[in-house]
Amino acid sequence: MKKRKSIIVAASILLTMTVPTVMAERGAHSQAAVIETSDVRTAADQYLREHADKYNLKEDLSDLNVETVINSENGTYVRYQQTIEGAPVFSNQVTVTLDQTGKVLLVVSDYVPYKSVEKIKNKMSKEDAESKALKHIGAKDNGNWAKNSKEFGYMVEDGVAIPIYRVVVHTDEPFGAWESYIHAENGKLLKKRNLNQRATGTGKVFMPNPVATLGSTTGITDNRDADSTSLNNQLKAVSLLGLDGSGYLKGSYVNIYSKAKTFSSSNTFNFTRSNDSFEDVNTYYHIDTLQRYIQSIGFQNINNRSIKANVNTYTKDNSFYSPSTKELTFGSGGVDDAEDAGIIAHEYGHSIQDNQVPGFGNSAEGGAMGEGFGDFLGATYEDSLSTNGYGKGCIGEWDATSYSSSNPPCLRRLDNNKVYPRDWAGEVHADGEIWSQGEYDMAQAFGRDIATKIILQSHFSLTPNATFSDGARAIKQADVLLYGGAHGAQIDSIWAARGISTN
Ligand SMILES: [Zn+2]
Repeated sequence: MKKRKSIIVAASILLTMTVPTVMAERGAHSQAAVIETSDVRTAADQYLREHADKYNLKEDLSDLNVETVINSENGTYVRYQQTIEGAPVFSNQVTVTLDQTGKVLLVVSDYVPYKSVEKIKNKMSKEDAESKALKHIGAKDNGNWAKNSKEFGYMVEDGVAIPIYRVVVHTDEPFGAWESYIHAENGKLLKKRNLNQRATGTGKVFMPNPVATLGSTTGITDNRDADSTSLNNQLKAVSLLGLDGSGYLKGSYVNIYSKAKTFSSSNTFNFTRSNDSFEDVNTYYHIDTLQRYIQSIGFQNINNRSIKANVNTYTKDNSFYSPSTKELTFGSGGVDDAEDAGIIAHEYGHSIQDNQVPGFGNSAEGGAMGEGFGDFLGATYEDSLSTNGYGKGCIGEWDATSYSSSNPPCLRRLDNNKVYPRDWAGEVHADGEIWSQGEYDMAQAFGRDIATKIILQSHFSLTPNATFSDGARAIKQADVLLYGGAHGAQIDSIWAARGISTN
């Protein structure tokens, strides 16, 4: 919750090939190549036969079909498909790279030898395989039948060639181009993936919020979610990464569910704040950026999922993360919460902690650490985007214009020198300021990346009822693990200043 104020999409691949001239196996003529296509094939075949042992190939190459011969100005490429009784072993190919004179330069092979071929009595029909695939995907529609494809072939596993259908179906719900391998007799699902490539979109957002970028509140008011020239001037154009290509704001790390149901078939999302779609874009961008940041400093295992974010679905001036549904919700009261990256990051902080320590924050001090970490994550993110230093030590400058008259307006501060237990108030957000300042001071001393890395690492040591002292001890230990204790003395003094022991 912010009050003083507190998930899934499948993998995909990107296929971008710059293909010079693709020549059909027969008949086509090379424009520039020195040697003829047929000679290239002969040279490649001969080389593979001579080196059959090295690549585990059959000496007569009887189970390799030439798929393509590609001539480019600087090289020639022969691509073979592995087959069994004429049917493909899906995705297992061999390429031979030759120079213009026919000399072999490189072989890349994923040919798989096998000991036996599984025999089946009753091969199911292609149509049955397709129905099975749709069922395995949990498709709510039958897909685009014209685009769907199904082909019989094999996959090799543990030395056995298994007869399968490779089925690709294009469905709307769940959205994707789903490739599945279906056992040709019993219909079991042996492999599934979404072939749709990730799309990059564009959009406009606040970075992190309009008060911070303007460096002032002059002329900046909520005015019931209205646009103004001053506010529009604070919009920044950004790329929206990892979209699933459906035209909705659904991606690798965020899945927006909103009142606005924002959609763009060209993945172009340029809105001003009076349009509810603006908050959808702002939420998508900042959560995606934070998750990519966490991965960039070395953590692939922290909240690495597509989190559902409910935007403008709640009318109060509050936002929250729900540990039971694992979803985020951003309210539209006052300044829409999802217009301020500080608030978005704070709530994402709760989801990070719950992901690292399920049930975290069960004790009063644990709860305060949760709020403090969210503020740390938000304030350091805001600082990383700041070019003018305005709002340092403060979080949520824009959101806070609805309820604060200080300059700058702040949801909370990270530098008001609260000390434990002297300033303990028994309210998680107020007490979170004790904790957030210790973490924020670490960022001032070591830089954002090192401080964030130590703090995230420390969470793995914590329990649902961990205390301030447990948290500080875990931080000190995380520094030992990550940096051999290089920051130990400073960590001691930073937390001693907050009244919290690291021993
Ligand atoms: Zn909170």
